[in-house]
Amino acid sequence: MDKFYTRWQAGQARGDASPLAETMSHNAPMAKLPLALASLVLVLGSASCGSPPSPVPSPSSEPTPSPTAVPTPDAVAPTVTTQDPAAGGLLDDAGITVSFSEPVRAVDGASFQLTSEGGVISAIVSLDPDGLGATLKPDVTLSFATTYTVTLSGLVHDLAGNRLARTSWNVATTNRVSFAPGTYTGYQFGDSPAHLTALKRSTLTSPSTATASAWQTMDDAGYLLIDAGIWAGYWVHGEPDGTALDDLTAALPGLPACDYVDLPAARTAYGQWGTTVLDTVFQLPDGYVPPDLVDTSQAGLNGSYYVRAIAQEDLAAMIEAAGSAGARLAVQSAYRSYAGQVLTFNGWVNQSGYAQALRVSARPGHSEHQLGTAIDFKTVGGIAPWRYADWATSTEGAWLAANAWKFGWLMSYPKGSSALSCYSYEPWHYRYVGRTTAAAVHAAGVTLREWLWSQGYGVH
Ligand SMILES: [Zn+2]
Repeated sequence: MDKFYTRWQAGQARGDASPLAETMSHNAPMAKLPLALASLVLVLGSASCGSPPSPVPSPSSEPTPSPTAVPTPDAVAPTVTTQDPAAGGLLDDAGITVSFSEPVRAVDGASFQLTSEGGVISAIVSLDPDGLGATLKPDVTLSFATTYTVTLSGLVHDLAGNRLARTSWNVATTNRVSFAPGTYTGYQFGDSPAHLTALKRSTLTSPSTATASAWQTMDDAGYLLIDAGIWAGYWVHGEPDGTALDDLTAALPGLPACDYVDLPAARTAYGQWGTTVLDTVFQLPDGYVPPDLVDTSQAGLNGSYYVRAIAQEDLAAMIEAAGSAGARLAVQSAYRSYAGQVLTFNGWVNQSGYAQALRVSARPGHSEHQLGTAIDFKTVGGIAPWRYADWATSTEGAWLAANAWKFGWLMSYPKGSSALSCYSYEPWHYRYVGRTTAAAVHAAGVTLREWLWSQGYGVH
């Protein structure tokens, strides 16, 4: 196999375009460029490696092939591809790859340079032995979600002398988190230099690809910073290439069937009001009485009903907005104690029988009304909302169905979802979960029970 070699020499100004003139210049002085090109060898195409035979036979005693041994190229200028900046990547150890569309050679001293906004980045350049490209390995770890520029200086052309069309290319490190839709643990960290203390831990669901803008290690674990969407500001476990780890979805048991059993609900601390899963299965302790109940008159509604103070501000804003839209809302029922729910449920049993009561009312301990964050609304001056064929077709019911989520309130038992929500359609029953959660549930298009379960909130 006879090959010939061309050395690319940084800083060596030659006007000779002949590749043979470049042969074996081992001792040429190196320019003080960041890339140690003088130690790199570019092997151009060989006539005996699957290429057509040389039209001009070379003497067997002559080890150096003639220029005519080089395959005849076309008249098209070579082009260059690098990684697609939009696709990101480049945070592994592979380095940045520059690929030519056909073999090229350098005439003048040619060098690759890697730069960022901060200036030149030292890198080791490996030239492809077939003259088809090069790989740059930076001496430093590249930053996350950053665009770098690769510049090739010097005269470079293909074997027919067609000059390279471009000599500068942008490449980018990854900035996309490859979140499969699923459930992950999100973290927020304090301002301490080490960022070692997780201030907030929250399971979150990513319905689609999320964008991350940073990656760093803390306590020997890597984290990606989500910078867009409702989870912006959270960190999740992930790899520097943007792959999120710890998808919790597979670890979650499926949504329980709506059996009539009594299991203690998870997350029943008073501060966990927005994430407590209550259904026919899980219940609150009978002594669960929110400490901050306030009269609904404080939110511009009829009084002598109670709701937790944490919901009061958004409730007032919602009632005001509804009023401006001509929807005159009143309270049918709000907070109910465990003992109060005993009376309510028994009332339904007496009226409709036990089987029907189970579908329309919660057994004691299972009601969201005991949380102090649920309200049954009605129309001012109107009859009980469940006496309507569908209260959601009233001005008030329709306004709530369309707008309540914007104020942190969700219809717990939407139409056609009783197998998932565990209760019949109740267009009047709304639960406050806060604006962030409400927006997430609304965007997910699922019932609150499904969403809370998907977040892992239902699991002890
Ligand atoms: Zn209700």
